[in-house]
Amino acid sequence: MISKINDHDTQYLFDLIGLHTELKTILHAITKWLENRITNAIVSIILFSETEQNLHIINGGAYFTTQDKKILDHFKISPDVSIYEKFNFNRLTSIINENFKSDPNWVSAQNLLKEKNMTACWSTPVINAQGVLYGTFETYYYQSKKPTDESIRLLHRAAALIALALDLQNERQRRLAINDKHDSFFKHHPDGCFELDFEGKFVSVNLASLQLSGFTEEKIRGIHYSHWIHPEYQSTAKSAFDQTLKGKTQHFELQTYQNAYGKTYWLNLTCLPIMQDKQITGIFCIAQDITTRHITENHLRLLKRGVSASPNGMIMTDADADMPIVYVNPAFLNITGYTEAEVLGKNCRFLQGADTDPSAIRKIRNALREKHEIEVTLKNYRKDGSSFWNKLTLAPVLDELGNCTHFVGIQQDVTKQRIQEEHIAHLHTHDTLTNLPNRQYFETQLQRSFEHVKNTQHPLFILYIDLDDFRLLNDSLGYFIGDQLIKAVSIRMQSLMQANDLLARFAGDEFIVMLTQFNEKQDVIQFVESTLSLLSKPFYIAKEKIYITASIGIIDNTANTQHPNDLLHHSELAMNEAKRRGRNTWHWYEADKKNLDQINYLSLRNDLIDALKEKQFKIYYQPLVDPLTGQVKAVEALIRWEHPQKGLMSPDTFIPFAERTGQIVAIGQWILQQACLDVADWNIKNNVALHVAVNISPLQFRRSGFLHELQQALSASNLPANLLKIEVIESMLIAEADRSIEILQTIRSLGIQVAIDDFGTGYSSLSYLRRLPANQIKLDRSFIRHIPHNSQDAAIVQAIITLAHQLGLEVVAEGVETSDQAVFLTQNGCNMLQGYYYAHPTPLENLKTSYSPCVMLLS
Ligand code: C2E
Ligand code: CA
Ligand code: CA
Repeated sequence: MISKINDHDTQYLFDLIGLHTELKTILHAITKWLENRITNAIVSIILFSETEQNLHIINGGAYFTTQDKKILDHFKISPDVSIYEKFNFNRLTSIINENFKSDPNWVSAQNLLKEKNMTACWSTPVINAQGVLYGTFETYYYQSKKPTDESIRLLHRAAALIALALDLQNERQRRLAINDKHDSFFKHHPDGCFELDFEGKFVSVNLASLQLSGFTEEKIRGIHYSHWIHPEYQSTAKSAFDQTLKGKTQHFELQTYQNAYGKTYWLNLTCLPIMQDKQITGIFCIAQDITTRHITENHLRLLKRGVSASPNGMIMTDADADMPIVYVNPAFLNITGYTEAEVLGKNCRFLQGADTDPSAIRKIRNALREKHEIEVTLKNYRKDGSSFWNKLTLAPVLDELGNCTHFVGIQQDVTKQRIQEEHIAHLHTHDTLTNLPNRQYFETQLQRSFEHVKNTQHPLFILYIDLDDFRLLNDSLGYFIGDQLIKAVSIRMQSLMQANDLLARFAGDEFIVMLTQFNEKQDVIQFVESTLSLLSKPFYIAKEKIYITASIGIIDNTANTQHPNDLLHHSELAMNEAKRRGRNTWHWYEADKKNLDQINYLSLRNDLIDALKEKQFKIYYQPLVDPLTGQVKAVEALIRWEHPQKGLMSPDTFIPFAERTGQIVAIGQWILQQACLDVADWNIKNNVALHVAVNISPLQFRRSGFLHELQQALSASNLPANLLKIEVIESMLIAEADRSIEILQTIRSLGIQVAIDDFGTGYSSLSYLRRLPANQIKLDRSFIRHIPHNSQDAAIVQAIITLAHQLGLEVVAEGVETSDQAVFLTQNGCNMLQGYYYAHPTPLENLKTSYSPCVMLLS
């Protein structure tokens, strides 16, 4: 049927259709074309809308009012109306209604048609080649009319032309729609999209591309892409361009050249070939701006490189409950000796060991819990078990919301530094000769222990050890041997120490020990005794056989000590007392006796100077009684200090001090003179011949002027020399024994008597005693205290008395407090008794001259 339409008179209609003339014009032309060929035909084209399922008058408007069109518009096609039936496009038949007024199918349109006085209607479906129904093509007539064959042919041709026009129009619209879609996609794509021609010149660019370049489209178009690319990436771009032109899609990254604002970009490019008619005509590119990502990536890479190249160990853990390791750098592996596989996923605690400072661990835990940064130095362990000092900086890693997601730790192996520090600290706190702790270290440790035992009630014992006459030894044997000796002594003493004891070298030949291993005083005494006996064994140094002894002062913290330094002072005093008592012995500090706590040693020195000037010293006298007759034979001069603020002070509180400062010389001189004067005066007044015993300190004794002092005191007082007796302690004679003996002999030659005081506490060498030019020994009161009940002491006392008598020495017992003691001593032949049993030391005017004789007790 279509083939027949190629008539000359339809050519202009084909031209209209081919030239994409507006549809309305084409339809109008077809309408006119048909009206010209069928007499009295009223032509209308009614299009069918499939979506709305209704009819739509497109043409024939001249015959239909707007009102009519509305009616027809609402002329719904529905099964009951069954117009659809009529458009049986498969059959492609026309429906000829010569008089449709009686046709039930047209009921709804009847009024309208009646109104228009239309009688006949020929309609032909408009169906395209694919069988799509576009609508109907209608001709109406006022008269009842039957079509001729020619009319039918014309109708069909017109309908075919309409279908063709509609087909082409639809196709065009479809193409336009696709184009629009593609255009929008291109234009509004957030990435830069552009088209290059075969040569690589810009054909079109989208909005994002304009933004990236900073130029207008006019400026860009026609420019070669290479203008926009960084020199370093020209070859990459070129090969990608070439490959794309060969039909291979390319995907790559490059850096641009500076854009209009001087900015360069990093782009992620996708290049696709443009295929037209199976020919590649150019390429499409999509350029994604990855500048920010690139910068971050670069940053990250740099960071990563920095972290992995760092000489410090780095470690990252999750902030989860068990904080597994998620990253370690090579330095960490180097320092610890582990492999990555061995540590990832583990908690860091495998680095710790039994030795790791718990306080450091506590610090770390706190920081982790509270999520703050810290720095600690702690001992860590390598895989091979060796330790290293780790200076660890730990910091939380927070996300944008401030939540802690990770922890990062930087570890620095500070072992070398630490060893050096420890070495320096050691030098500061230790003595180089013996490698023992020094005074400074001891004092800090003492302070610590002192505080500690305050809470635990555990006793603390301090031993102050001073080698006897070390200075003399040093002078005679030389410093080298002296040093070796000190070293050897320190080694011997160290052998006695237990884990928690502390032995320090204070200075020269002074050592100090802090003992915490004992609970009982008795055990401490035993320890001290064994120390003394160990030290008294000969040392062999540089082929010399050297004997040495020590004096040890002991104190415990049970006395009401306020400050640990008092312990040191008091132990030193006790050591001095031990020296005074004969050396090679120990003395336990007696707090109640000395009330040293109240003494300020700094002011004591000044006070002593004032005391002499202002005559604050007094002499008390204690009688020595012949127990058989009850007669007072002698008195011992005992110094007292009437301190203006502190009241009456006993000699133990200031004599040892005065010995140290040398003030004892002046004090001793005064007492010697005063005692001689007092007793000479007393003797004259009472017409008696009392002896007076004066205690002489070692310093006084050794002074070259001492003999002269004695003579002066005698001549000044007119006291007969044989009534003066000096009391010296055994130990002070032992050093330079020969010289001591010489001095004593000279003293004896003056007629002055000599008593060995505190006998039994010191050296007690009998052969030595024999050589001493003494008249008398005074049994120390420590022997007297427990007699007669203590049979051992009683036996010693008996033996000493017997021996002394055999050597022609008189025996005085001091510290006699009870009648039992007096009886025992009298029975055993003791020549004289001194003690509270008879009298306390008193001012001379209170002195009694006789007591009941001991025989009365015996009877
Ligand atoms: P010492 O020479 O052994 O003197 C005897 C001490 O025993 C005196 O203590 C005396 O009061 C005390 N005493 C006497 N009878 C008894 C007794 O029955 N029981 C007890 N428990 N004690 C008794 P004092 O006077 O406190 O003197 C202490 C020490 O001070 C003296 O010990 C002596 O070493 C020293 N000293 C005293 N006066 C002088 C002095 O003028 N020159 C020097 N260099 N030292 C002195
Ligand atoms: Ca005495
Ligand atoms: Ca004594």
